[in-house]
Amino acid sequence: MTDYDVIVLGAGPAASSAAVTCAVGGMKVLMADRYPEDVCKPCGDGLSENGLEALAKLSVSADRLLEAGAHPISRSVHLWPGWRSEVRHDDRGFLTLPKPCLLRLVRSRAEEAGARIRYAAETPVQRDGLWQIGDTARAPRLIDASGAQSGFRQDPALRRGLPIGASMVISAKPPLDEDSVWFWHLPDDPTGYRWAFPLGDRRWNIGVWRSAETARIKAEMERFIALCAGKCPDHFAVIRPAAYAFLGTSPTSRADQAEDGCLQAGDAAGTCDASSGEGIPQAVASGMLAAETCLRGAERSRATRPQSADQNI
Ligand SMILES: Cc1cc2nc3c(=O)[nH]c(=O)nc-3n(C[C@H](O)[C@H](O)[C@H](O)COP(=O)(O)OP(=O)(O)OC[C@H]3O[C@@H](n4cnc5c(N)ncnc54)[C@H](O)[C@@H]3O)c2cc1C
Repeated sequence: MTDYDVIVLGAGPAASSAAVTCAVGGMKVLMADRYPEDVCKPCGDGLSENGLEALAKLSVSADRLLEAGAHPISRSVHLWPGWRSEVRHDDRGFLTLPKPCLLRLVRSRAEEAGARIRYAAETPVQRDGLWQIGDTARAPRLIDASGAQSGFRQDPALRRGLPIGASMVISAKPPLDEDSVWFWHLPDDPTGYRWAFPLGDRRWNIGVWRSAETARIKAEMERFIALCAGKCPDHFAVIRPAAYAFLGTSPTSRADQAEDGCLQAGDAAGTCDASSGEGIPQAVASGMLAAETCLRGAERSRATRPQSADQNI
């Protein structure tokens, strides 16, 4: 059995950010993800200015993202029926990068800081006041950064009504600029939209998100794929097939709110923006915040621990 100061559940953006902060603060950290290393939840692959700022605090700079293959975006175009608006982005103010590449970067940053990562890990259970993974690892603290639908102490019934998104990666040549991200707002859903985000070299992340109408997302996504294929008759190929996921969970879906040494971060804590679907900046910021809280808690425990007889002499 190896003793850690903290176990971080998950190995996504929130977990990696928490692990970096805890490890830099001097803690012995184990990140434990339930899935193999190559499993990745669907994402739009967009990194806004807020996302880039948050990642820079982990020393994952725009330069590092560009070296990893990020694609620079100079404007966002929003299209409503009969109305169009544009937002210009500064140099490196918006990048796109496939989430698997982002995960490789943030996870390697966690390892550089000293955290260990275990994939296909068992779910931790609490025993004798410690969080334990089988007979192999234990820690007094747990940061749950296991995402929106991990099932870890989440009540699926309370997920009903949450926003849901779908995304896929295609190779295509649409009649759109490859330096802009495109949003088509849905007329029947006040916050829903379709998007097309260029990833460079004719690769596009396309997707749909809808507020709370889970049943309609598949039909909406299939209509959008057919439309995109029709607009790109010369070249359209699927690189990553469509996948569906909730955009964050409700903090109230936590089945057990007891004070048991477990903090939540990222989508597991419902930090994703319910109106835009953006969640990476919040995942990084909340992961860091949970880690800082853990570090302060550990410091307080050390300060208030009764001194041994030897130390009193
Ligand atoms: C379709 C879609 C498009 C999106 N587009 C964007 C975008 O363009 N830009 C943006 O900023 N945000 C976007 N988001 C939101 C963003 O992807 C999430 O908010 C962000 O990934 C949350 O990070 P996280 O670390 O909290 O969770 P996740 O990224 O979900 O990571 C959770 C990790 O926990 C692991 N895990 C799952 N269950 C368990 C378990 N039981 N035990 C242990 N580990 C477990 C998973 O394998 C995963 O590694 C999008 C979301 C969706 C669904």
